[in-house]
Amino acid sequence: MGRLLRHAALALAGVVLSLAAQAQSVAFTFDDGPRLAPGPLLTPEQRNAAILATLKKQGVQAALFVTSGNGADRPAGLALARAWGEAGHAIGNHTVTHLDLNSAKVSLAQYQQEVLACDAIIRTLPGYQKWFRYTFLREGNTPDKRDGMRNFLREQGYRNAYVSLDTSDWRFDERLQEMLAADPKADLAPIKALYLSHLRQRALAYRVLSQQLQGRDIAQVMLMHHNLINALWLDDAIAQFRAMGWTIVPPAQAYADPVYQLMPDRPAAGQSLLLSMARSLGLGKFDGWERLVDDGDVEMQQLDRAAGKLSK
Ligand SMILES: [Zn+2]
Repeated sequence: MGRLLRHAALALAGVVLSLAAQAQSVAFTFDDGPRLAPGPLLTPEQRNAAILATLKKQGVQAALFVTSGNGADRPAGLALARAWGEAGHAIGNHTVTHLDLNSAKVSLAQYQQEVLACDAIIRTLPGYQKWFRYTFLREGNTPDKRDGMRNFLREQGYRNAYVSLDTSDWRFDERLQEMLAADPKADLAPIKALYLSHLRQRALAYRVLSQQLQGRDIAQVMLMHHNLINALWLDDAIAQFRAMGWTIVPPAQAYADPVYQLMPDRPAAGQSLLLSMARSLGLGKFDGWERLVDDGDVEMQQLDRAAGKLSK
C-alpha cells in the first residue's frame, strides 16, 4: 500500500473508531418480577403486558431477573415470566425472597439455596440464561460470603449479571403508588417528568464515570424494576435514550464487553459495577458521587415542593 493511501486508510479507521466510541449503548434489565401483588391502575397481568408491549413496539430485547417468591412460584406468575421468554427476552435469577447477603442474619448457604430454588423454576422457561443478579446489588458483608458466592456462581456456570447504570426507579414507583393511594386522579405529569430527568441524569453521570474509570464508553447495563412506573412510562424512557443518541442493545451483547469480567477487590454494598470499581480504586468521593447514591432524594424533594405549592 502506498504511503498516501495508507495514511488515508488510517485516517478512515480513526474516524470509524471515534464514531464507535461516540455510540453509547445500553441494555435494559428489569428486576424483582414478575409481581403478582395488586396495585393501583393496572392488574399484575396488565403491568406485565404493558412492559412487554412497549419493548415489542420499540424493538428492544431486554432481560427479566426473576424473584420467584414475587409470583413465578405460582402458575399465574410463571405464565407472566414465560411471556418474557416467549417474546425473546432473557430470563435471569434474582433469588426467591430477595434476601440481603450483606445481612448478618443471612448465611451464605441460605443465599445459595435460594439461587438454586429460583433456578429450578426459571430453567423451564424459554430465554433462560445462567445469569445471576445480586439482590440489592450486594455481594456479601464478609470476604467468606463474597468469595463463597463468586466460587459458587463459577461452579454453577452462572455469570454475575452486573449492573453498571443504577437507577432509583423503585423510589419513584413507591412515590407514584402513594400518590395514587391518596388520590386516584392525582396529576402524574410532575412525577413522570422527574422520573425521566432522573434516568437522564444517572445515564449521563455513569457515562462520565465509565470514561473516567475505563477511558471509554462501556456498554452500559441499566437496572430498572418490574413495576407500575415502567408499565406506564417505559416508552418515554426508551424514546429519551434514543433522543440522547444512545443505542439500545440486547443484554447479552452488553455483557460481551470485557468490563463485565472484572471483579472489584472490595465488596461494595448496593452499588453498580462502576461505583464498586471507583471504590476499589479509592475514588469513593468523585465529582457528583452523591447523586448516584441518593435514591432519588433530590427529585423527591422537588415533588414535595410541587405538592406544597399545589396545596396552597
Ligand atoms: Zn431486586
